[in-house]
Amino acid sequence: MALTHPIGMSEPEPPPGDGNGRPSPMLEQYIEIKAANPDCLLFYRMGDFYEMFFDDAEIASRALGIVLTKRGKHQGRDIPMCGVPVVRADEYLHRLIALGHRVAVCEQLEDPAEARKRGSKSVVRRDVVRLVTPGTLTEDTLLDARRNNYLLAVTRARPSSAGEDARFALGWIDISTGEFRIAKCDRLSLPAEIARLEPSEIIVSDALYADAELAPYWRTLPAVTPLTRDMFDSATAERRLTSFFAVATSEAFGALTRLELTAAAACVTYVERTQIGKRPPLSPPLRESAGATMAIDQATRGNLELMRTLSGERRGSLLDSIDRTVTSAGSRLLAQRLSAPLTDPGAIARRLDAVASFVDDGTVRADTRSRLQASPDLARALARLAVGRGGPRDLAAIRDGVLAAADLARALASLKDMPAEIAEALKSCHRPDGMLAAELAAGLAAELPAFKRDGGFVREGYDASLDETRALRDESRRVVAALQSRYADETTVRGLKIRHNNVLGYFVEVTAQHGEKFLAPPLNATFIHRQTLAGQVRFTTAELGELEAKIASAAERALGLELEIFDRLVGNILAQSAAIKECAEALGGFDVVSALAHLAAERDYARPVVDDGHGFIIEGGRHPVVEQALARDGTPFVANDCDLSPPKNAEAGRIWLITGPNMAGKSTFLRQNALIAILAQMGSFVPAKAAHIGVVDRLFSRVGAADDLARGRSTFMVEMVETAAILNQAGPRALVILDEIGRGTATFDGLSIAWATVEHLHDVNRCRALFATHFHELTALSARLDRLHNATVKVKEWQGDVVFLHEVVPGSADHSYGIQVAKLAGLPASVIERAKLVLAKLEQDDRAKPKGFEDLPLFAAPYKPTQDTQDDAYQFMVAAVAALNPDEMSPREAMEALYMLKQKLAQTGKK
Ligand code: ADP
Ligand code: MG
Repeated sequence: MALTHPIGMSEPEPPPGDGNGRPSPMLEQYIEIKAANPDCLLFYRMGDFYEMFFDDAEIASRALGIVLTKRGKHQGRDIPMCGVPVVRADEYLHRLIALGHRVAVCEQLEDPAEARKRGSKSVVRRDVVRLVTPGTLTEDTLLDARRNNYLLAVTRARPSSAGEDARFALGWIDISTGEFRIAKCDRLSLPAEIARLEPSEIIVSDALYADAELAPYWRTLPAVTPLTRDMFDSATAERRLTSFFAVATSEAFGALTRLELTAAAACVTYVERTQIGKRPPLSPPLRESAGATMAIDQATRGNLELMRTLSGERRGSLLDSIDRTVTSAGSRLLAQRLSAPLTDPGAIARRLDAVASFVDDGTVRADTRSRLQASPDLARALARLAVGRGGPRDLAAIRDGVLAAADLARALASLKDMPAEIAEALKSCHRPDGMLAAELAAGLAAELPAFKRDGGFVREGYDASLDETRALRDESRRVVAALQSRYADETTVRGLKIRHNNVLGYFVEVTAQHGEKFLAPPLNATFIHRQTLAGQVRFTTAELGELEAKIASAAERALGLELEIFDRLVGNILAQSAAIKECAEALGGFDVVSALAHLAAERDYARPVVDDGHGFIIEGGRHPVVEQALARDGTPFVANDCDLSPPKNAEAGRIWLITGPNMAGKSTFLRQNALIAILAQMGSFVPAKAAHIGVVDRLFSRVGAADDLARGRSTFMVEMVETAAILNQAGPRALVILDEIGRGTATFDGLSIAWATVEHLHDVNRCRALFATHFHELTALSARLDRLHNATVKVKEWQGDVVFLHEVVPGSADHSYGIQVAKLAGLPASVIERAKLVLAKLEQDDRAKPKGFEDLPLFAAPYKPTQDTQDDAYQFMVAAVAALNPDEMSPREAMEALYMLKQKLAQTGKK
């Protein structure tokens, strides 16, 4: 949209440049402030607008679609300029931040009238009052109420000796809620940690930013800000952190390592640097112990569509389909829990106990939810008030939130068999001093304006001197009304009105037709002309001027008093910010717990058993998202069992190999089991009849042939890189989901890789795994790998069509049913008929072969994970396979190559 405004009306200062090469004082001021904030767009306050100049103006006008104008000259050239109105600044900030810009907001620090007193050439004092960056937002309009907004600091300690790995520490805060956490990790788990937090902004030292190994990774993340070394100086870290929290030593936060202290200090220093004198109510840093949460890497998160679907939407994600919360705080906490399932069975059981108590009691659940629904977002209101960006409605939010918490706590006090987590939260609900809410209730008016500058938010009768001043102001307004009717009488112009606007103040207005009369004697002695518009003429009078001054001063005094009261109420609130925050967290917790209970009751979920074993038994499991999607069309979901527990006398869990035609439900089955593990460990009931899960410490999920052109890697390369990550990282507690791995390359390559992968998972990783494949040949492996179990998804052939039963049963698929699926998809009948003929011929030839594929020496070779692959036969076969180019072969050539390979194998096998 285009924005233009009359330059000069709100800005009495001299223009930025006089064209003679010498910058004006204002331009000098601008250049100086801009030089201090080179990496930000500078919002330079001029009256009712934030103006941008030079490059900033060009960038912003393009980004925001606003008109680029020019103003004055600098070094002989026009100065580009554009601006946004202050009242709509949030909206523009939002767009600039979303595009990855940072904005320095520069305000006028004095009244322009003050500046003029110093001489006509002097400029208004200005300075930057805040840097707006993606990770340091507090405004509702700039934030998603249902998501945390994290700023993450990453620090690294180089290995002290060869052979040791680099260590990392993470510090992250959400200044809009006050949360502050610290954790450490190694290089391998760094991306998974960052994927879990999804920070809006990451700060690192210049050196770490430029690190040769990490630089390409940083570029894949949305907003990584390199900062100068002093922000990450470990020598001053402790001092910076303790002085922020006004404590004597950092021991108050537990025994933090130097690296952790540095990350935490970077967070608070960055807050100080961006908030400039304002202090958000950060909680003291809380350290997360390593391994406390299930490690889930970025690819797995994406693949399982935990927080958003593959196309990037919240709708259709697991989060969306389980979210029954009724408050923003609850929604944020639910997302947090979902992205970081726990690994301690005790902690998981405590969460489940809390959910269970609400599942059992439907009345209490409904009552709790309706109370919560009406409760405001305490944490964010508190943060805004603390950084001086709060308004009267934030005061009301504190009042209502604190009252709602106390009411809820009273209502829940009678809960039977109170679980520990709930008892704890109930205590927090009572933490804020009752006087606080009472004082706010007494002070705040029933209707509240959005901004404190609008006034009128203090209740009548709360403050005597305010009431008096307001009476004076209102009395004068009545006098204005009386004056209007007197003027109308005296001039006999009935339509005469006294109006008010911000430019003229109060004025007398008559229609153009009466204008002449007022401009001539005798009326022109009283009425002084101010403005002529198309239809009206406007005047002022001496009397009106006096009245106006009286009204203005009374209104100004009233507003001044209100602002004083506002500050006092904010002071009371901030004095209790720790208690209010605790209360806010408790409300969020109640919301999550009652929402999960609501979900469990609504969708018939069961309480899972989570323990320290290696078991994994799901009875009648369902896919939480697919089930709900099918329910919308009235289609039932077919529940399936899954048992990956170690067989008798074995310690390691099982691998299920699932074959079956396309569309049978393989992928759905794989994912539902992974999602059930996540739900169970986040402390939720699960979509199953029963579930018994030995804690999963790492979860991997991969799909073959996923396209990732954006990162410039071939699909097959991606598939292999990801498979490598699993084979290198999965331990005995991991759960691995592999869906059609090996699909991205020629059949032989793909089959061989899939084959070797299954063997490795079985013998080396020894983890629980689900492996869906279209390589039926792999099922032969179960003869040799004792913990490998073959399963297939049942289908029925009926009158030449295939019917999907979606039932997972032991055994392997006998057909691919590819042609039947193609028929369902609407391939022309002639193509289907021809394909059937070709298939029949191929199958006949296949049977004519002397041996089954699974007996090929290559695959039957005794498998040793550390096998020396230098032997000649192996080398020969590798070279022969490498020389093939399947893309350029005709089917006939391919068949010939196949026979050739088999022949060679038979020969080398004899050696
Ligand atoms: P595959 O991976 O075997 O090709 P999918 O898992 O993608 O098959 O499933 C194909 C479709 O079948 C799904 O989109 C879903 O609509 C349906 N489906 C899968 N599993 C079930 C089930 N257990 N019950 C009902 N419908 C199912
Ligand atoms: Mg599939």
